[in-house]
Amino acid sequence: MAEETVFGKIVSGEIPVDLLAETERVIAFRDMNPQAKIHFLVIPKTTEYTNVVELAAGDPELLAEMIAVAQRLADEHADGEFRLIFNNGPLAGQTVFHVHAHVLAGDLEESTLVGS
Ligand code: AMP
Repeated sequence: MAEETVFGKIVSGEIPVDLLAETERVIAFRDMNPQAKIHFLVIPKTTEYTNVVELAAGDPELLAEMIAVAQRLADEHADGEFRLIFNNGPLAGQTVFHVHAHVLAGDLEESTLVGS
């Protein structure tokens, strides 16, 4: 079984967040340490996948659903355009091993990288 992460606790409700979007299999909320005017996280409810490579191989439809939620958030909160970042592995800045997409929008010239 995968080790429990902070995002697993968010999915189970143990750690409260303000949900920005929810589908049957995905939730989205604000990153607590924003790197841009808009910085949201989109995560699957399942704890099965630690990173996007595993998710793409195991459940590409779920990955597509996450990206559709990212687009919806960018439409609602920005001009519909956004940067989508998956940190993949500790050397790339991944700190939470429950796959998640960073959705950044607004004044992106001030923001180049996420994490580390
Ligand atoms: P990564 O470095 O790609 O693994 O991204 C993990 C992200 O989760 C970081 O940007 C953190 O700021 C964010 N984060 C960690 N805990 C929480 C939390 N409880 N609520 C919102 N964002 C969080």
